[in-house]
Amino acid sequence: HGVTGILAVQGAFAEHAAMLDGLGAPWKLLRAAEDFDDSIDRVILPGGESTTQGKLLRATGLFEPIAAHIAAGKPVFGTCAGMILLARRLENDPNVYFGALDAVVRRNAYGRQLGSFAATADFGSAAGDSAVVVAPGEHVPGFAAPSSKAVSGAAADSVRNPDGHTAVGVPSADVVLKDFPLVFIRGPFVAEVGSAVTVATSVDGNVVGLRQGNILATAFHPELTDDTRIHELFLSL
Ligand code: GLN
Repeated sequence: HGVTGILAVQGAFAEHAAMLDGLGAPWKLLRAAEDFDDSIDRVILPGGESTTQGKLLRATGLFEPIAAHIAAGKPVFGTCAGMILLARRLENDPNVYFGALDAVVRRNAYGRQLGSFAATADFGSAAGDSAVVVAPGEHVPGFAAPSSKAVSGAAADSVRNPDGHTAVGVPSADVVLKDFPLVFIRGPFVAEVGSAVTVATSVDGNVVGLRQGNILATAFHPELTDDTRIHELFLSL
């Protein structure tokens, strides 16, 4: 693996960096266009304020290399404002940023009173019997954890390579993270999904987690919890 570039013009980038530190995964803050070098093989777009982030993406020149990264099909993970930056269209805002995620997203979707709350839900598609279920405290198969605990289901068949890293035995699209803690801070939800998108999480009938190939997007903030599974899933892409 290379290095995860974390967009660091505004918002909750430090929390993502701390999460990756805990997983032993290298990262680099992206503050200027020059920061996006050849070592970067995946990108995190953190929560924050999407309008501000959008302006700073343009001002720093980081918009173009990140857009090219996404267009090349390389992994990108957007949380909250990051999901807004990825969306094809926003329901209540004329701006479009990367436009790569085939979804229509509503900003500040929960209103002021309900803007911040916590919930628990499964993350991932349970399509078919082949789905690997990863319980809280377990590691995602395919993620190179230094000290992986046992995982259940088909993941038990995955093979350890000579570096001690767990090889991917199943398509990660079929990974289900049981009982993931969801933290919402004036977050968006997804008003409409296109056919390319797999719904990963819904809360009260609202879509709040998506997967589209190597694009992961959550309306909630896994970096503000101590649950590393979505970051592991991202690092396994
Ligand atoms: N409400 C913010 C926006 O629209 C997103 C909130 C967040 O990232 N916590 O940009």
